Amino acid sequence: MNTTPFAELGLPTPLLEAIEHLGYERPSAIQSLAIPVAMEGHDIVGLSQTGSGKTAAFVLPALARIDVNRRKPQVLILCPTRELAIQVCEEVHRLGSRLPKLHAVPVYGGAPIGRQFRALEDGAQLIVGTPGRLLDHLRRGSFDPSEVKMTILDEADRMLDMGFREEMEELLAQLPASRQTMFFSATMNRAVEGLIKKFGKSPQMLEIERKALTVDSIEQRHYEVRERSKVEVLCRLLDLEDPRLAIVFCNTKKAVDECTEALLARGYPADRLHGDVTQQMRERVLQRFRDGKVEVLVATDVAARGIDIEEIDIVFNYDVPHDPEDYVHRIGRTGRAGRTGRAVTFVFGRDLYRLQNIERTIRQKIPRHRVPSQEEVEDRRADALYDSVRDRLEAGSFQGHETYIERLLDQGHTATDIAGALFTLLREATGTKGQSIAEDQSGTADGGKFDRSDRTPHRPDRSNERSNSYAGDMAKLFLNLGKTHGINAKDLVGMFYREGQVPDGSLGHIKLFPRHTIIEVPEECVEKTLRALQKAKLRGKPFLLKRDKQA
Ligand code: AMP
Repeated sequence: MNTTPFAELGLPTPLLEAIEHLGYERPSAIQSLAIPVAMEGHDIVGLSQTGSGKTAAFVLPALARIDVNRRKPQVLILCPTRELAIQVCEEVHRLGSRLPKLHAVPVYGGAPIGRQFRALEDGAQLIVGTPGRLLDHLRRGSFDPSEVKMTILDEADRMLDMGFREEMEELLAQLPASRQTMFFSATMNRAVEGLIKKFGKSPQMLEIERKALTVDSIEQRHYEVRERSKVEVLCRLLDLEDPRLAIVFCNTKKAVDECTEALLARGYPADRLHGDVTQQMRERVLQRFRDGKVEVLVATDVAARGIDIEEIDIVFNYDVPHDPEDYVHRIGRTGRAGRTGRAVTFVFGRDLYRLQNIERTIRQKIPRHRVPSQEEVEDRRADALYDSVRDRLEAGSFQGHETYIERLLDQGHTATDIAGALFTLLREATGTKGQSIAEDQSGTADGGKFDRSDRTPHRPDRSNERSNSYAGDMAKLFLNLGKTHGINAKDLVGMFYREGQVPDGSLGHIKLFPRHTIIEVPEECVEKTLRALQKAKLRGKPFLLKRDKQA
């Protein structure tokens, strides 16, 4: 893992302040390789993918070179598309936020040229643009290249593939020979090499070393989640997966703070770790996490370094990491001590490139899963509540409230109504209300990509409900095996009719829950069936079958 802090890269204070404000905690691998070399004035060839943080790797040294008191073009960034030019210019504005006199403009084809003339005349110091339109401005005289100190070719391979070779060459040929040039490219080929040879001055080749990394014992998946839905989806997954301990990784300190606040507001026992947390506080947080008082730890990569806790059930990548190596480090915190760990990554839009990069590095696919619905979560909560109430009843630890119960009974309430009211109160006290999110609509229409191995909904499986031809009274039986034990309705029907001596066609509803099942049988058969099935096994497992106490 890369450990150089931003402060050691030789960047001026206003840029370090902007980085701090953005909450970037540490440079990505390409940033820590490229920035110091670029700051020394060397030409660079950076082999780097989208999502690796390459934009900041060239924007930061570029901003460091600009004399904001001179209102002439000093840095030129060439991009293959209008979208990329806009994105790069946005990053320039973010990273240049503490340079009040900075004037940067995007220039691309398809937009009114008049407005661009004005922006250029207005004293732009940094221009980001597509080659064709930039050449247009050069020819018309609206772009004066005489003071350009630095040129960057972003996605040089793509620009060549798109047929911009001539425009690029004409542009580069007219820039001052003394300028510094940085070539960034995802791939290297003859055409890119040719360009570098012609326009570079003994450039340094920078490439991130790719180690083969494996993460076999971890079940990995990704969800397509918009930024604004992340908290809701995280909460849904925490409820469904019910981990004892979970770590949520974010890329910035700001995201860690926001995510922790949101989790706390929704009642999750969460806490944070990032570079601004003091050593003393860090130890306290880790101890509380180890003790299980904090169940969800939200952290940046740096802050999570050295955490050695074995019982982490699940790792969330709230943001996709920049370097595949960080992904491996992050998810390696689960699946320890022979356990199977789980790793979940939230991905949206351009993050997909980063995910593909990770997949290439670990040589594994990270399948997409459907975002679980609110209903599934609600059902899971209801099941969990049911289970804990039943466990309490079976353990007999519910005494001490007789006077209240008797008072309610005396007032004419039935036992069922009282229990119902208590269930409702408990649901309200334990569950926070979820929110509807855009993914609830798009989640189902995922082009069949949804991998059915996702945790299935925990709602009672009503598809197994059956209507019988028997007209007498029915009784409910409780079976202590359910869906998680691999039981299905077909097994049960076979067993009750064959071994349980239930007359054909008289079996009622069968409701499968995760850990138990309720079966309706004719009242008159109950004793006989319970006796007949006393020593029976289902899927090789002995079980407990008894009259359901709720009935
Ligand atoms: P890029 O690979 O340049 O497209 O960058 C991908 C995203 O990462 C952009 O949204 C940047 O704002 C963000 N980013 C770049 N560098 C860092 C960093 N050191 N820490 C956190 N986020 C970063």
